[in-house]
Amino acid sequence: MTRSFWQIKGETRSAPRADSEIPAKCDIAVIGGGLTGIATAYYLRMLGCQDVIVLEKDFVGFGASGKNAGFLLAGLSEPYSRLVVGMGPEWAIRLMKTTLENHDLIAEAIAANKIKCDYERSGSVHLASSDVERKEYDDTLELLNRDGFRADPIDKLPSRLSGFSGGYYFPQDGKLDPFAFVRGLSNGIQVAEGFEAVELRKTGVSVEIIGKGGRLKSEMAIIATNGYLPLLDGFFEGLIFPVRGQMMATFPLAKNVLGKAVFYANFGYDYFRQSVGNNIIIGGLRNRYLKEEIGFDDAINNPLQSDLSTYLNERLGVNDFRIMTRWSGLMGDTIDGLPIVGALPHNSSVIAAAGFNGHGFGLAMVVARDLAKAILKGERSDVLDRFSLRRFL
Ligand SMILES: Cc1cc2nc3c(=O)[nH]c(=O)nc-3n(C[C@H](O)[C@H](O)[C@H](O)COP(=O)(O)OP(=O)(O)OC[C@H]3O[C@@H](n4cnc5c(N)ncnc54)[C@H](O)[C@@H]3O)c2cc1C
Repeated sequence: MTRSFWQIKGETRSAPRADSEIPAKCDIAVIGGGLTGIATAYYLRMLGCQDVIVLEKDFVGFGASGKNAGFLLAGLSEPYSRLVVGMGPEWAIRLMKTTLENHDLIAEAIAANKIKCDYERSGSVHLASSDVERKEYDDTLELLNRDGFRADPIDKLPSRLSGFSGGYYFPQDGKLDPFAFVRGLSNGIQVAEGFEAVELRKTGVSVEIIGKGGRLKSEMAIIATNGYLPLLDGFFEGLIFPVRGQMMATFPLAKNVLGKAVFYANFGYDYFRQSVGNNIIIGGLRNRYLKEEIGFDDAINNPLQSDLSTYLNERLGVNDFRIMTRWSGLMGDTIDGLPIVGALPHNSSVIAAAGFNGHGFGLAMVVARDLAKAILKGERSDVLDRFSLRRFL
């Protein structure tokens, strides 16, 4: 198991959470204490359901939500030009708007709950690493502006960057400390940390959740375990794949060398930013190690990590640095690149919300809010319909 820069930093500044007693029953149990699970509980409570508990096998923010880069990006991992072709212009626009709304929901939650997570609407720089990518970004820039989303061309890249051939800037994007955000959002929510669910049993119209060391009954269960979902329910094998991402952080540099924006390159495989304390946080290069970077093992890939150091030196022109920490995290990729949300075909009291394909901080708040509205108010959401699990039945 590895710990991220954010998790190490967070432990020194937030008080440890006390484990809750596990009640014998509750109205809604949410399995998984990452952004999706915590945000779902947050909106369920906001809409009036108080008897909600989040069951988390380790600690809140243990998974990808505490180990990611903290980028708040509009759109999905593919360039907008590909979304327009793949999903059609109407859905490409709808998804862009959804991710921008998701960003607004994060900003709203930070303000409403006074969450200290170094949030900033910093903008993002999308860098082309090849002629093919350059062409996609030129098309993306044109299509974004055509569809009413402001994006700016980059005439001149900072001289320290090398191996990039232009790109574009998207001013509405942002960044935060993802672990601090999820922990902050979980304040006031009943959470049982250290509860690993191993089986969900149908009992009439409700569900019994059997965990290692405890069990409880609930009227409904929501599984928000992202890449780990196939371990809990075999239906998701072949639909959601555990994919690993490697990251590292340097000790603080003497000054800021990257500016305030976050950087996304090589079709999102490579990404980097500088923290408020001037640490460089960099991840990616998974495309060089596709065979190794799959599975549930959250471990360090030494050759890839060494490549990250070289990348920092050669591509970002940073040669005087010391590594503070290296880590990896687990993403949940789906076969069509979209999240999977909906009631299980074999147990309608259990709803899955997972498969965020490396972009959960761009989508999970909207999914959580719409799911809470659907459960408590019967409201339909075109976004949830688009992500419906029923597309695989
Ligand atoms: C290296 C890396 C970089 C990334 N960078 C970004 C980024 O910059 N921006 C962005 O938008 N997205 C990014 N992502 C993706 C993003 O982190 C995820 O999409 C998002 O965090 C998913 O949240 P989640 O709550 O669905 O899953 P998770 O955060 O993985 O939470 C799932 C939780 O379920 C728990 N769990 C699993 N099984 C059980 C069980 N049986 N019982 C109880 N609990 C269980 C796990 O311990 C975990 O805490 C990145 C991911 C990685 C790995």
